[in-house]
Amino acid sequence: PAQAPAETDARALEVLSRVWGYGAFRDVQADIVRTVVEGNNALVLMPTGGGKSLCYQVPSLLRPGVGIVVSPLIALMKDQVDALRQFGVRAAFLNSSLDLQSVRDVEAALLAGELDMLYVAPERLLLPRTLELLERAPVALFAIDEAHCVSQWGHDFRPEYGQLGVLPRRFPDIPRVALTATADDRTRADILNVLELRGAAQFISSFDRPNIQYRVANKEGPKTQLLDFIHAEHRGDAGIVYCLSRKSVEQTAQWLATQGVDAVPYHAGLSPRERNHAQERFLNDEGVVVVATVAFGMGIDKPNVRFVAHLDLPKSMEGYYQETGRAGRDGLPSTAWMVYGLADVVNVKRMLSQSDAPEEVKRVEAAKLDALLTYCEAATCRRQLLLAYFGEERNEPCGNCDICLNPPKVRDATREAQMALSAAHRTGNRFGAAHLTDILLGQPTEKVVAMGHHLLPTFGVGKSHDEKMWRGLIRQLVSLGHLAAGEHYGLSATGKSRALLKGETTLMLREDSLIPREKVRKRDR
Ligand code: ADP
Ligand code: ZN
Repeated sequence: PAQAPAETDARALEVLSRVWGYGAFRDVQADIVRTVVEGNNALVLMPTGGGKSLCYQVPSLLRPGVGIVVSPLIALMKDQVDALRQFGVRAAFLNSSLDLQSVRDVEAALLAGELDMLYVAPERLLLPRTLELLERAPVALFAIDEAHCVSQWGHDFRPEYGQLGVLPRRFPDIPRVALTATADDRTRADILNVLELRGAAQFISSFDRPNIQYRVANKEGPKTQLLDFIHAEHRGDAGIVYCLSRKSVEQTAQWLATQGVDAVPYHAGLSPRERNHAQERFLNDEGVVVVATVAFGMGIDKPNVRFVAHLDLPKSMEGYYQETGRAGRDGLPSTAWMVYGLADVVNVKRMLSQSDAPEEVKRVEAAKLDALLTYCEAATCRRQLLLAYFGEERNEPCGNCDICLNPPKVRDATREAQMALSAAHRTGNRFGAAHLTDILLGQPTEKVVAMGHHLLPTFGVGKSHDEKMWRGLIRQLVSLGHLAAGEHYGLSATGKSRALLKGETTLMLREDSLIPREKVRKRDR
């Protein structure tokens, strides 16, 4: 039966608060939910962290029958379903990780109308058996997550996604909602074509947060750099400082407090009471700085966070965007500030390569990290890069990032890169940045002499530069994938570096000058 929009909205809000405990939808969510609940198709383009899931989860609960979610992220399905079950949603999934008996159980529950939501891998959905099953089951909607995978042109093309045209053909009366966080014009056109969504309502959110000033600097003395930054630009402001480890959270918070900053620590190792206290203070008091691991921030909606600082690298561009996005929700000028150094790059790369995650997941994560590192090393407008990562093209530099405000010098560093690569190569691709730098500078340290590295032709070839330059150069080589980080911080020349060593390609690198903060700092004050 058709419902008045107001009534739909009220029911949606009731489910949102009863099941998820949230008080309100984010702007566009309410419109999307209403559209889908009323049985219409929709295309949703929303940044990661924007809240796409609720756009099909809430309608799945409000419409009769089960919401079918098509997702290529098999590795995440179980977690997503477990999370829903914790909220009391009757959810299940079907993919290749299930044994036969579990598949039968899920199918039976589906037919018996005992499910609210079912996550399905596309190859499973396309099986004749599954399609026939769905024709006999009460289906509330189809949500096609990561819908950009339908596009042959995208980097994420999945052949099975290309066949999802079967949905409009066989289930013409069941609403389809396609969702993605990455879609340029061509991808968008492909989604509309394959899923027959021409004429569907389109909800396209921009990823841009114009009031956030993006800044990335070389890590020199992180705590002092942070304090300088806070004192110079955000004295008395509320902010979030992200650190990788619980220990550095504790230490940083303590140190800031001794320096007169109202800082509180937050990480998963604290008691619920301590965490609540930190959160309450942050939300209710003026100018509290939370020093936290990534555990902090989910579901926290404080409008006047004036800065987000990263003392360690996030894991991906999505992570970075999401975490920095907690600044300036009120639209007023805010800063996303980060420092990072060679050790961080080596560390995160190593953690990634040593994780037990499935190869597929590791590959995706490595690519995401590389995108972030490219962003960090950028010599062009950061906002352009950030938006481009999310498929949003922008022709003009933004004028509100460190690169725009203070353009770095770029120069041909091919020769220096060759020197560093050859130092790694000639020492067996197993020494760290400090040792390689000693060789390049011609420092006859105990270790250098003991290994006989003072006899190499590379010894001392880099004397005309200082240590800082070499550290910066090596960091950029690691970030850009010419050097790979192995065990014990050892660096090895990669296949990618070969062309560079042979002189077949050149390398333009940013000159890491000292960070002249003056220009940047004055802008919004
Ligand atoms: P996406 O799929 O777009 O990346 P998610 O659906 O995972 O985003 O949502 C990101 C985060 O925002 C989640 O922690 C989610 O619980 C939270 N969130 C989404 N919508 C709301 C809302 N209306 N109120 C509060 N938190 C929300
Ligand atoms: Zn810019």
